[in-house]
Order: sequence, then C-alpha cells, then structure tokens
Amino acid sequence: MICAASLFSACTKNDEPAEKKTGQAAEVSADVLKNIAALGFSTADVHKRGDAYLVEGDILLTQENLSETSTSPNLRIAETEQYRTKNLVKNLPRTITVSISNLPAVYATATADAVDRYNELNLRIHFQVVSNNGNIKIVGFNEGPSDGFITLGSSGFPTSSGQPYNEIQMNTNPQAYGSDPDLGYLTSVIQHEIGHCIGFRHTDYFNRAFSCGTVTAGNNEGSAGIGAIWIPGTPASASAGSWMLACSNGSDRTFNTNDKKALNYLY
Ligand SMILES: [Zn+2]
Repeated sequence: MICAASLFSACTKNDEPAEKKTGQAAEVSADVLKNIAALGFSTADVHKRGDAYLVEGDILLTQENLSETSTSPNLRIAETEQYRTKNLVKNLPRTITVSISNLPAVYATATADAVDRYNELNLRIHFQVVSNNGNIKIVGFNEGPSDGFITLGSSGFPTSSGQPYNEIQMNTNPQAYGSDPDLGYLTSVIQHEIGHCIGFRHTDYFNRAFSCGTVTAGNNEGSAGIGAIWIPGTPASASAGSWMLACSNGSDRTFNTNDKKALNYLY
C-alpha cells in the first residue's frame, strides 16, 4: 500500500517507507498555508474539507481555529513527548457525552472501550456514551485513498469558549481498517481522536519522523519546546509511544505513563 506519512496510515504497520506526497491541492491558498504554518502545524498534506482544512492527517482546523491564538500550555515531559494543546475544555468538572451512529457494531464497542480508558484515569472530565446527540458525535464516512492518502479518522479542537470538538469521523472504507476491523486498533484511533476533541495536539508535532518514520520537509509540525512547561518528576528521556503520536504503528496504542501525567495535569 502506498500512503502518505499521515496519521494512522496503515502502511506504517509494516514499517514500509511512508511516501510523502508533495505539493498541495490548488484549492488550498497560499494565505491559508501561511496561516496554518503560523499556528505551528505542518503544511504538508493539507486537504480542504468543506469550510475547514484537514492537517497532519486527522486534525480539522476550522475557520475559528485559523483566526484564533492558542492560550493553552505546551507541556514537555520527555525529549520525544510534548503535549502541546490548542484550546482546553472548560467548566470542569464536567461530563462529556459521546454518541455513535450508523457504524458497524465493532465501532460502538471500540467507542465504549475508549471511553472506559479515559474514565479509568478519574479525570475532571468524565465521558459517557449516550444513544444519540452526544457532545461528541462519532459518525462514519467512506472514502478510498486518493493521491496516496487515506484518512482513517478525523476530529478537531475545542472551541474558544471551551466546548469539546463535536464530531469524530471514522472511515469505513475497507482500505482503512480492512473488512474486519481490529477492535483494539479501532479503540486506539477513537481514543486518539477524543484526545484532539479535548485539546491535545500530536505529541511528536515537533518531529513527525518519530512516529511516521520518514524525514522529509514538512515533518516538523512546529517549533519544539519553546516556552514549554516541564511537568515535575517526569522523565527527560524518551519512553514508549504516546497515544497522541502522529502516526499509528497499527497496534492498540493506549496511554503511557507520561500521557496519564499530562492528562491529569490538564484535567
Ligand atoms: Zn491525530
């Protein structure tokens, strides 16, 4: 399979060299790219999605995101892990409801499992699966690869008023997860997308090569460590993969020790 070095590209599972798509679709203007870069996001593989722009494989930047300045902290734990956030969810403690519709049963099981993993951390945000109209709605879409790029899931960041991003889209195309999706893999993707919905950027945003495996122009998603808050008592060296790494290795990746510390620090 040929794919871009984007989030959760299934190709990274086999350590195949990820192929970087060069150039941008004509629909993404130079002004928008400049704006995306100014916010510290990668300008490689930017795709227009309605009024929003899909960046770094799975993050939808809305018009609001493009015009606002982040005031959230940039947490640094280990050399390879920086928990940069956009906006955070406000009015804590609070329960965030999650609903899922028009998706196969395994997606619902994965959603329940992902929610359980968050709730086990006893954070000031609690997630609850509801039958419909959740604060976060998980919906399906079916889209095959194009130009060597396949989106496995996408979501976005909280609003400036502190509401979680309201939608996670999961690709039901067989080329995304296969015809019989693995429960653990789906769970980890939903867990990751929920992470964006509550404000987490990619842990390795400053060096996508860490999880995506290639070093090309555009891998650097932003400046590393400038003004970062070091969480006391956490290691300075690299540790096992974070749940917010930009690229999946195809496995069931959950919170590591540092992820839990960052989640507890913010929530
Ligand atoms: Zn992501």
